[in-house]
Amino acid sequence: MPPLPDTLGLLKSIPSPDTSLERTLREQQALLDNAGVGIVFLRQRMVVRCNQRYAEIFGYETHQSLVGEKSDAFHPDRAAFRALGRAAYPVLAAGQPYRVERLMRRRCGTLFWARLTGSLLNPEDTAEGSIWIIDDIDDQRQAQEQLDAAVWEKQVLFDHAMVGIVFLRDRRLTRCNNHFELMLGYEPGELQGCLSRRWYTNDADWEDVGQRSQGPLSQGLAFAAELKLCKKDGSIVVCEVRSKAIDPSQPNNGSVWITMDITERQQAQAALQHMHHELERVVQQRTHELSETVENLHQEIHNRRQDQERIYWLAHYDPLTGLPNRTLLAERSRDAIAAAQRSHTPLAVIFLDLDHFKHINDSLGHRVGDALLVAIANRLRALVRENDTVCRLGGDEFILLLPGANANGAARVANKLLEASRRAYQIDTHELTMAPSMGIALFPDDGVDFDTLSQCADVAMYRSKLDGRNTYRFFTPQMQAQSLRALLLENALRRALERGQFSLVYQPQFCIASGEIRSVEALLRWSHPELGNISPAEFIPIAEDCGQILPIGEWVLRTALAQLKSWRAQGMVLETMAVNLSAVQFRQPQLPELITQILTDIGLAPDSLELELTEGVAVEDPRAAIATMDQLHACGVRLAIDDFGTGYSSLSQLKRFPIYKLKIDQSFVRDLGEDADDRAIVSAIIRMAQAMGLHTTAEGVETQEQMNFLHEQGCSDVQGYLCGRPIPAEQMHSLLMHQRTESTLFT
Ligand code: C2E
Ligand code: MG
Ligand code: MG
Repeated sequence: MPPLPDTLGLLKSIPSPDTSLERTLREQQALLDNAGVGIVFLRQRMVVRCNQRYAEIFGYETHQSLVGEKSDAFHPDRAAFRALGRAAYPVLAAGQPYRVERLMRRRCGTLFWARLTGSLLNPEDTAEGSIWIIDDIDDQRQAQEQLDAAVWEKQVLFDHAMVGIVFLRDRRLTRCNNHFELMLGYEPGELQGCLSRRWYTNDADWEDVGQRSQGPLSQGLAFAAELKLCKKDGSIVVCEVRSKAIDPSQPNNGSVWITMDITERQQAQAALQHMHHELERVVQQRTHELSETVENLHQEIHNRRQDQERIYWLAHYDPLTGLPNRTLLAERSRDAIAAAQRSHTPLAVIFLDLDHFKHINDSLGHRVGDALLVAIANRLRALVRENDTVCRLGGDEFILLLPGANANGAARVANKLLEASRRAYQIDTHELTMAPSMGIALFPDDGVDFDTLSQCADVAMYRSKLDGRNTYRFFTPQMQAQSLRALLLENALRRALERGQFSLVYQPQFCIASGEIRSVEALLRWSHPELGNISPAEFIPIAEDCGQILPIGEWVLRTALAQLKSWRAQGMVLETMAVNLSAVQFRQPQLPELITQILTDIGLAPDSLELELTEGVAVEDPRAAIATMDQLHACGVRLAIDDFGTGYSSLSQLKRFPIYKLKIDQSFVRDLGEDADDRAIVSAIIRMAQAMGLHTTAEGVETQEQMNFLHEQGCSDVQGYLCGRPIPAEQMHSLLMHQRTESTLFT
């Protein structure tokens, strides 16, 4: 065996060889040199000896180099060294070993933890020195510190966690943190050893959680659930629970349960959800409002569009009848004329005016008038072709634009309209007929633009009126001149009365039987300073159209009756004064009152007046006409039908007229000598009148032959050039005076 190194120098003092002491020493030396701890022998605060481990611990290369080193060099500072001395020596002096863990200092200056065990060689005498065993526990100490820190941290976590932490074994609480107890309202330690059933609300829940958690926990997985737990006071706390086995392979080690009170969170979530719903509701409401706004906007746009369409419609159509108005007609005519020009095709314009429409309004009111216009418009529209335009100009005037129509085509349409106008319109209780007067102008002969064509058609229409109405006329250049005259006359008429341009002439009506002048007919004359004498046949239709007939007619009545009164005052015997009454006059609502008033004013009995009406008064509205006649009849005024035979009065109608006399139109009388038909008509009229108890007066009797025939047939009276022309009042005065003395004509 090799000799042991004499680390502490113990052997130097030992004599050799092979004594038991020597062996002991050797053994000690071996022990020292191989000890895992540092060993030092100090005396008088100096290193006397130390082992190699000691040198290593303090950072010295050899133990020899430490011999003589001061012992305070191994301590952090002198204060620490002294403090150790003060703590250790009383113990050492008592013969006890002194153990302590302290910070020591290595040669390089770094501090480290060491465990010191010191003892005195001789407690009786400290001067003999001490032996210290030093263990470098720096690593161990640090590991311990880390472990302690970790444990401490865990404990802090455990104690201060904001979640409840519970350790269960066999579903019994082995440990829990303060938070868990607080959460459930228990005192610290109160739940120790309790079954977890304690904080469940019922058995079923508890068992259910037990079963559900078993699987995951045994597989090392986490079990998570949201549970309602029961607090000590019985109230409920909603918790989110997570659990895991401490060691899945060792079920007996139990499990840890982390429990978090989510009541508030749930409340917050509920509040959040509520807010979310509220937000959703508000958004939906806004969306709804928005869609309503959008809808309103659409409606607005729709209304605007409708308004625009309505505005366009009003600007282009007649609101009453829905027919195109003049504006639209002008537009369509322009297009139609341009097309006709391009294709060299004809085009016709018909101007249509309803005869005496005004009287409907005057006698039956505007409502009936409007309804009649609508009915007429519908009928007109139905009668023309698709691409023809029927336009209402206003009032009772219409224009028809007929592209492609020549004279024949236009005449066909006009005839169709005349034909259709014979069918009565049923408006309320009224059965009305309404005849049109029409004028036709043709493109391109009469004009190449709409204005010219419509003016020409208007002139031709006027001609139809003058020619007796209820007919149509084509425009001719002569008409232009005539219509200018009509205009001239109309203007002149307005001032004729005030300027005293009117006068009356009187034509006698003789009783055939007695040969006496039974009555005279007042006939109007107009003498204009520039235009000369104008025939009533020309100016009366104009006066009717422009309404002047009313004041003029009243003037005639007053003048004629005043004349009769004057003659009678002078002793003349004259049964009646016959006065012509225009249909326009006849339809004025106050006519009976006016007549009565005039008769009263003048002071004549009503039967002194014989009113001559034409059949035309009863054409449009027979019932109203009969009512007026009845009223006049009731006043005592005599009524005669003038120009009988030219109108449309039917026998049945005639029967209902409260008339006194028929005046046979001169057109039948004129040809009595040559025309057998006329003779037949005249004798039929006379017989019919007799049957009805009516007087008859034949007009326009110019020859003795005519007179004789009429006499044979039993006609009661005659009027004509043969017996007397229309003459001024003074001449009539003489005639009447003469009659007083002789009466020779009828013998
Ligand atoms: P009327 O009422 O039929 O009058 C008879 C017309 O025949 C008168 O024409 C008269 O001059 C004419 N006449 C009389 N005897 C003969 C005859 O033997 N041969 C011919 N060829 N003619 C004869 P006048 O005066 O030109 O009047 C024309 C029409 O004017 C009248 O026809 C009447 O409808 C209307 N008229 C005349 N005066 C008035 C008036 O004061 N008021 C109204 N509303 N109409 C009147
Ligand atoms: Mg007459
Ligand atoms: Mg007549």
